[in-house]
Amino acid sequence: MRPNAIVLGAGPAGLAFAHRYGSGAIVLEKSLEVGGLSRSIAIEDGVFDVGGHAFHTPHERVRELVHTLMDGAWHEQARDARVWVSGQLIAYPFQQHFEMLDDQAIVDDCRGHRVDPDSVARSAHFEEWILRRFGNGVAHHFMLPYNRKLWADDLSEMSCEWVGERVASDRPPAPLAATGVPARQPLHSDSSVGYPADGGFGSIFVALAARCERIELGEQVVSIDPSSHRLQTASGRSWSWETIVSTMPLPRLLGCIAGCPGRLIEHASMLRAVSLKILLILARLRDRNVPQRIYIADPAIPPHKVAFNHTSSATLSARENHAITCEVSYSPRKPARPDDEILARTIDWLVANRFIESADRVVTARVVDVPYGYPVPTRDVATIVSEITHHLETMGIHSIGRFGSWSYANSDACMLQGLELADRLLAGSGP
Ligand SMILES: Cc1cc2nc3c(=O)[nH]c(=O)nc-3n(C[C@H](O)[C@H](O)[C@H](O)COP(=O)(O)OP(=O)(O)OC[C@H]3O[C@@H](n4cnc5c(N)ncnc54)[C@H](O)[C@@H]3O)c2cc1C
Repeated sequence: MRPNAIVLGAGPAGLAFAHRYGSGAIVLEKSLEVGGLSRSIAIEDGVFDVGGHAFHTPHERVRELVHTLMDGAWHEQARDARVWVSGQLIAYPFQQHFEMLDDQAIVDDCRGHRVDPDSVARSAHFEEWILRRFGNGVAHHFMLPYNRKLWADDLSEMSCEWVGERVASDRPPAPLAATGVPARQPLHSDSSVGYPADGGFGSIFVALAARCERIELGEQVVSIDPSSHRLQTASGRSWSWETIVSTMPLPRLLGCIAGCPGRLIEHASMLRAVSLKILLILARLRDRNVPQRIYIADPAIPPHKVAFNHTSSATLSARENHAITCEVSYSPRKPARPDDEILARTIDWLVANRFIESADRVVTARVVDVPYGYPVPTRDVATIVSEITHHLETMGIHSIGRFGSWSYANSDACMLQGLELADRLLAGSGP
């Protein structure tokens, strides 16, 4: 008989694992809903995601699963993203469209950079990569301030292995020939993105959860004993396990494991995350015809990204009030400003840029705190994660997902991790 597997977390990675593993998988989820960071939040007639979410994947297997789950209730459209610079909205990404700016001085600064591919490839860190890849003008007018705002960290401490999949540039990313795994492509203005035709992004994971055998909500795992193979949840229940599949943030997982070596706990504490204040603003728009996403580098405007979530599908767009989701990063190096202040300044920006007539048009606004938003790709992440996950696997604990593998992975890549781990365990070829 297959070993019982306790899955920690009902986000995309945990649900995909449980669905593929089938009987014998029990998902324990600390919150009262499924979806994790990919859940949706309904407030009055607004549907918000935890930051702007859209579906886009190079993984055929994941695409097929999502399309099966949605059973035709799916909305595919071209992405419409813009960049806000000096009071003007231009097409995304900045580095390809700065010529659209009225401010000729910025355009002149950004022109004429000659890329030396060898020097770009030798960049020691992300900040250097930006300067070499795009030149001083693009770097100083957008790429550096934008990335400092998003990552709330020192860009010279970040690696550049991930940029080929994430940062739009005019050269294709290097193929991952060695693994044969298709590489994610950065999104461009003509990329096609998908979204459930009804409800929010989280509908995908509500449908996936319905195909999992057993999910226990409101069960937060607080301690794991590898010697007795039992774990405890905050409700006081105790569960026995043969295999654990965790999608919890790695440092928190280690903190739950009885007798975890101090060296691993210390190394895990070096992993850095960007935290987020997600502003959920439900408002009557002046004009429904708005871009899906706006990226803002100006440090005086709180969010780095504003997502008009109701542009995601026709059913959402038809609603009277529209959900505007804004992401504001914070970290120990860039502490958060008070919620009231960031909300007020963001609403002022929405009014000043004529998305809403006046602050009176805001029906409701609130802030959701997300302690783990983006895993920061510092240069030591791969070494730390591989040391910890190898140790955990010797105990029958597998750590996957965005913060379980500390990788800048979207929901599709997290689902793939869950599916592939289940394949591996089902085939009896565990590590
Ligand atoms: C701002 C933002 C924008 C994004 N945009 C996109 C996008 O456009 N497209 C896209 O595909 N992806 C996007 N993503 C990424 C996507 O949201 C995540 O990659 C995905 O949800 C991660 O899945 P996961 O299962 O690894 O973890 P999570 O979604 O974080 O799920 C982990 C689950 O574990 C639970 N948990 C934690 N601790 C415990 C415990 N002790 N006991 C029990 N349960 C526990 C949590 O409550 C949570 O439900 C975005 C993410 C962010 C933050």
